[in-house]
Amino acid sequence: MTLWKKIFIALTLGLVLGVVLNQTGNADIAASIKPIGDLFIRAIKMLIVPLIFVSLVAGIASLKDLATMGRLGAKTFALYLALTAVAISIGLALSIIFKPGVGVDIGAATASNVNADVSEAPTITDTVLGLVPTNPIEAFATGNVLQIIVFAVLFGIAIVLAGDVAKPVKNFFDSAAEVMYRLTSIIISFAPYGVFALMTWVAGTYGLDMLAPLAKVIGMVYLGCAIHALVVYGGLIKFVARLNPVRFFQGSIEPMMVAFTNTSSSGTLPVTMMAAERNLGVSRRVSSFVLPLGATINMDGTALYQGVCAVFIAQAYGVDLSTSQYLTIVLTATLASIGTAGVPGAGLIMLSLVLTSVGLPLEGVAIIAGIDRILDMSRTSMNVVGDCAVTCLVARSEGELDQAAYDTPHVLKSEAIIDHGGSGEQPDTTLT
Ligand code: ASP
Repeated sequence: MTLWKKIFIALTLGLVLGVVLNQTGNADIAASIKPIGDLFIRAIKMLIVPLIFVSLVAGIASLKDLATMGRLGAKTFALYLALTAVAISIGLALSIIFKPGVGVDIGAATASNVNADVSEAPTITDTVLGLVPTNPIEAFATGNVLQIIVFAVLFGIAIVLAGDVAKPVKNFFDSAAEVMYRLTSIIISFAPYGVFALMTWVAGTYGLDMLAPLAKVIGMVYLGCAIHALVVYGGLIKFVARLNPVRFFQGSIEPMMVAFTNTSSSGTLPVTMMAAERNLGVSRRVSSFVLPLGATINMDGTALYQGVCAVFIAQAYGVDLSTSQYLTIVLTATLASIGTAGVPGAGLIMLSLVLTSVGLPLEGVAIIAGIDRILDMSRTSMNVVGDCAVTCLVARSEGELDQAAYDTPHVLKSEAIIDHGGSGEQPDTTLT
């Protein structure tokens, strides 16, 4: 059976078991399964720092000229920002039309809060200064992805500039990247167990009753994510990249499901990188740059959620927002999504920034906090699909997408990852 089917079955079983345990008053049993999921999350996290570093250095070092790097960077940034702005606008439009906040009992909703630990959002200056590591080893040790990207890009450029003398270093990184990809395959094959445990835990903890008072807001975020993914990404893949959109979603399904359960785009990054390369035929040169960057700065799902939540809170508190306030939300949420870390619940912290920008009551964050995990599942899932979409678009425009690999049925490629993981027979999809 293919990996995505196994993950899908695990997710469904976890959901059913979790709801049953919750309804029968056995939420503690659901919670006791969580460590299996945590083990999977830890194993994936273990991969992130070495995987990003070695694959990005290897990718950059394989560039023929540095102008390509600049072009790649510019396209990636522009697409990430533009799509984020579109996502918030969809979120705003849906909440304006469906009015999820009208008639909400603020007291009751806040009472169901399970996690109102809201910390300060970082300033923009801090975010920019924080891009450059003063000590790369510290960046590795603390897992600061943006700083690792900056160091890896500069290191890779230096390899190109150093020329022949740097050949051994380049070869080392090429080979280390292969090893990290192999290790990633092995760990991803355990995804079904991790996904099952996490899903059981979430469904067991929340149950259905807790979601009822805010069902409309949950519905808006899920609907918005579905519209953005199907219409915006699907449309771009079909009409701009001229690729089959169905294959795109099939190829992205593993990272989508892992992100849905672990609610961390950074924590899904190894799975996303593997899917982009093996399922979507994107060259490692493009995926190793565009995806780690996306996992840290591109948060379309988060931005959409902030749009929905801001309007929801305004409606719940009876505040009328003006057009300029809506524009402020679009701008702040786009910038906030860049500064949002790809970790669980980070979007909730940045929501306070968005609310402050238009003078909405910060207590609104506490209402959302109670259901944030449920919202985080869909928004993180969409964050990683967004990363995959931009990766395909950039790769296609650079001639770095192997269409034969993209069009090959998913089934074969998933089996190749898992069942022949140790045989060394996988085709090298890197376009050098
Ligand atoms: N959990 C999200 C992610 O990792 C960020 C967020 O909280 O919105 O992409």
